[in-house]
Amino acid sequence: MRVLVLIACAVAVGTSVGTAFLFPVTGTDFYRFAVLAVCAVVAIELTRHIDRRRVYGHSSSVAYIDTKAVWSFAAVIVLPPVFATLMVVLTYLHSWTRVQHERPGGLVYRWMFSGATVLCGTQAAVAVLALGMHDYPGAPAASGIDGLTDLGIITLAATLRWAINVALIMVAIALSKPNIQARELFSNFGEQMLEAGAMGLGLVAAAIVVANPFVMPGIVIAMVALHRGILVNQYQQASRTDAKTGLSTAGWWHDFAEQALVRARDHGATLGLLIVDLDHFKRLNDTFGHPFGDRVLKAVAEELIAEIRNEDACGRWGGEEFVVVLPDVGDERNLRNVAERIRRRIQSIVVDPPAPLAGAGDSAVTASIGGAIFPSAGMASLDELLLAADTALYAAKNGGRNTVRLSGAQAPAADAEQRALPQQAQPPSPNA
Ligand code: GH3
Ligand code: MG
Ligand code: MG
Repeated sequence: MRVLVLIACAVAVGTSVGTAFLFPVTGTDFYRFAVLAVCAVVAIELTRHIDRRRVYGHSSSVAYIDTKAVWSFAAVIVLPPVFATLMVVLTYLHSWTRVQHERPGGLVYRWMFSGATVLCGTQAAVAVLALGMHDYPGAPAASGIDGLTDLGIITLAATLRWAINVALIMVAIALSKPNIQARELFSNFGEQMLEAGAMGLGLVAAAIVVANPFVMPGIVIAMVALHRGILVNQYQQASRTDAKTGLSTAGWWHDFAEQALVRARDHGATLGLLIVDLDHFKRLNDTFGHPFGDRVLKAVAEELIAEIRNEDACGRWGGEEFVVVLPDVGDERNLRNVAERIRRRIQSIVVDPPAPLAGAGDSAVTASIGGAIFPSAGMASLDELLLAADTALYAAKNGGRNTVRLSGAQAPAADAEQRALPQQAQPPSPNA
């Protein structure tokens, strides 16, 4: 990771210096740079409150996308390379001091790396434009075949710049989080539309800054207005994710499970449902404090995620209750096996209590699990399945906890042995 960051920075500096003296700089270039720079600073200032909110909710597992490219891409097209480089440096510095440094875990080297990748992409774009455009640096040609060729060349330059930037960032994230799944890495790929939009507006800004700089405020206003829309993606993500555990929220899980049930019914397939309720969780909270309880919830969520398949979904139903839906689970035996594996995973969780309370009591974590399978008699709707699983869960609690019960199934003979020692060592719960 460090090597990659160093290489990216070195290449960025090397190529930026290399291209800086290739084209002469005129007074008009200074003027255009000033216009673009003022617009960039005003736009970043006016969208700062929105970007701050995005930055707070941003996961470090995905690339952060914003709209600085409007200004730096316009600069790549109409200004000599040295100004294109300066525009990237200016927008990154400004954005760091005004927005990014507040980001949780916001590290200056990450931001520098991100800037370096954009600089590398920028110099690659410079090369494409310098070789292909009719009048580089300057506005795209305005007539016939020349105009079309310029448009093609600019599109190529934009794509290259984007690809270099995204590829380097993804490699860096993958290096710093070796266990990350591709699904997570690409989870905000929809946001790349924002980057495409920014470069599109950058092209417009390039033409306008040459033709009539007084029209530039129009672009700033359009960008600020459009910026509001990009929050929707983030709010949508937030509404689906339980903040404490990272699992689905109850509402989102319910929608997902409803759709899965409809599909199971249509295709004559099976569907399993599990409700997982932690045992004596109130006592853990009371003994070791709520922050400890929260860490346990997070650890349980991680075990659930690790156990289920891609097509399953796991949600936090509320408090210390979790729900799992398993499409195509097969037969009841399969469902019981999954539930057993979940029970054992939870039983093996070790969360260290805060040091002063280390000897205050037993910190073992166990869960009781109730399950139901579709199709079963009298269970046509999701609510009926949930009720059946909930009833089975109560049976599991009454059966001594740290155990699995499925709706309509006999308690297996081995049930008593399945219960683990930690649970038996504890005194009975007051609300048992
Ligand atoms: P049982 O074995 O019968 O399930 O006992 P229990 O103590 O787990 O059940 P009960 O429903 O009485 O207690 C649930 C506890 O979960 C009460 C509440 O303080 C705790 N809880 C609910 N949400 C959270 C949370 O987000 N964080 C923490 N730390 N505790 C929570
Ligand atoms: Mg409960
Ligand atoms: Mg409980």
